[in-house]
Amino acid sequence: MILARTRAELAEALASLTGETALVMTMGALHEGHLSLVRRASELAPNVVVSIYVNPLQFGPNEDFDAYPRQLDADCALLEPLGVAVVFAPSDEEMYPRTPLVRIDPGPVATMLEGTTRPDHFAGVLQVVHKVMNLVRPSVALFGQKDAQQLALIRTMVADLDMPLAIEAVPIVRDDDGVARSSRNTYLSPEERIQARSLSQALQAGTAAAADGEGAEAVLAAVRESIEQAISASGGVIRLDYAVLVDAETFVPLVGQSDIRSSSAGENSLARGASDRTDGLLAIAAWVGTTRIIDNTIVSV
Ligand code: AMP
Repeated sequence: MILARTRAELAEALASLTGETALVMTMGALHEGHLSLVRRASELAPNVVVSIYVNPLQFGPNEDFDAYPRQLDADCALLEPLGVAVVFAPSDEEMYPRTPLVRIDPGPVATMLEGTTRPDHFAGVLQVVHKVMNLVRPSVALFGQKDAQQLALIRTMVADLDMPLAIEAVPIVRDDDGVARSSRNTYLSPEERIQARSLSQALQAGTAAAADGEGAEAVLAAVRESIEQAISASGGVIRLDYAVLVDAETFVPLVGQSDIRSSSAGENSLARGASDRTDGLLAIAAWVGTTRIIDNTIVSV
């Protein structure tokens, strides 16, 4: 496994590879979620390149850029046994030799959900994703469903800018108690770690309602009831940012917009049968103590 710290070292490492490359982009502090992307990547191409870079452009001024865990040696020790060909871990100077003058505008989906609390986040994400894709030139890049809005925006960028690679989504990896794996989980105290379960539990309540055949409103109501109970029981530890049900592709809200859906289908909503159900993304974000946690799941509503 080659560790490339500069563009020149990356170019030299890539030149030594034959065949196609799959790219996994991360901010490091690797866990099973990241490793599942790497394992899937090695099924898709003979060469796997993993980037490890805490991208300053995607952090807001009061966010955790400085505190974000950085552990390159431990990360490399996890990647080497998986047969990764190259780890690209550039410095900020190497990634951004100057403040970029040309920026990517991620469009309207970037202003919703995560974008409400983190207004410049997705512009920063797309800037670095576009750059690393250009530097590595993979045939496929893999991203986790954990960051569903990021995944959707990357797909849109690749389509709208005719970028010559495939995007592969990888399911969310969770701990045994249901909590989605995240590098930020290391910020949680043992008590907060238990409270963090309430996010995935709320999503499970929504999944159960959808499995019972409930519609969008009842599914979202089940999620909200579950998280609100957890919030009251938490004594102020949990604070909800959002709990929403949106179209999994367009991010248009599915609750409060049923008229749009039925009229665009040209039907009376009462006439809709089981086959008219839509893939909805149930997405939730909350602070547990000072740590912001996100989670999501797809339901048929
Ligand atoms: P990050 O290091 O948080 O930027 O994540 C790098 C990649 O790993 C992104 O594509 C994430 O969506 C993905 N990822 C992070 N956590 C998980 C998880 N629990 N399950 C699946 N993918 C994940």
